[in-house]
Amino acid sequence: MRRELPGLFDLQVNGFGGVDFNAPDLTADRAREAIERMRATGVTRCLPTLITSSFADFAASARVLGRMSDTAVAGIHMEGPYISPDDGARGAHPREHVSPASLDGFARRQDAACGRIVLVTLAPEVAGALALIEHLVASGVRVAIGHSAATPDQIADAIAAGATLATHLGNGCAQMLPRHPNVIWELLAADAVSASLIADGHHLPPATVKAMVRAKGSARTILVTDAIAAAGCPPGRYRMGGVDCALAADGRVSLPGTPYLAGSSLTLDRAIANAVRYTGLPLIEVIPMASTTPARYLGMTTAGTVVADWDADAGVLQIRRVTS
Ligand SMILES: [Zn+2]
Repeated sequence: MRRELPGLFDLQVNGFGGVDFNAPDLTADRAREAIERMRATGVTRCLPTLITSSFADFAASARVLGRMSDTAVAGIHMEGPYISPDDGARGAHPREHVSPASLDGFARRQDAACGRIVLVTLAPEVAGALALIEHLVASGVRVAIGHSAATPDQIADAIAAGATLATHLGNGCAQMLPRHPNVIWELLAADAVSASLIADGHHLPPATVKAMVRAKGSARTILVTDAIAAAGCPPGRYRMGGVDCALAADGRVSLPGTPYLAGSSLTLDRAIANAVRYTGLPLIEVIPMASTTPARYLGMTTAGTVVADWDADAGVLQIRRVTS
């Protein structure tokens, strides 16, 4: 069935089509190449996402992305460096650049980004995090909890300070957790917190996606790709900043030789189709999770329209035309 959809909006994308937004030698032309490739998957706006790295490397990418006036670059998502240093919770972020939260440190990064950082993912248990959350929220920057081993009290404090999103809920936490309480249940139950999910079949099993979407409700569920440069590319080795990543034939992206995922090769059109299959919800209820809901979360709007064919029997969404 042919449908017209709002342009898709990805809150978390580290790279695409062979281009790494985290590469210190990123250029505006390369970033535009990635955005153009992403458009073919229906994405007309996104937050290029910069992960934990040295200030110099962060600033190099942020300067390029922050100066881009394209509507497609809705802002920058800064994921780290104020995250848990623990294995598992830290995910693929390099430990040597993980740091306590710092108002001055953030100010330097925001300056480098020309004020375009609109979303920060941090761990509330990190020293200085609560003061930074209050500062960010007061200045209009959204705060997400992620890559965290926080206790229920620490999560409650972060939410009271203004955190409103759980970044890739169910990932970026310890491989083994107490059955309850734990960081996943706390964030799942928090009514003030929306959740972003990576519905690629590798980060979360289908039943987990289904249960999380039902718990949060479709209005507080946001589908993201967390894609790296490998998205839209053949299997092989790719980079995410200083991090080496391997894309396997089944689409899984991991740190070579470890059980840790390192971003994804997911595209947002496939995330929608997967979420429909995993949850049993109608397409019309899932589309907003990848378009109007993330836009509204940021106080923004979507851009353009997408014409797509939905094959309900096969569970496949085929993007036909993207206008902006
Ligand atoms: Zn992450």
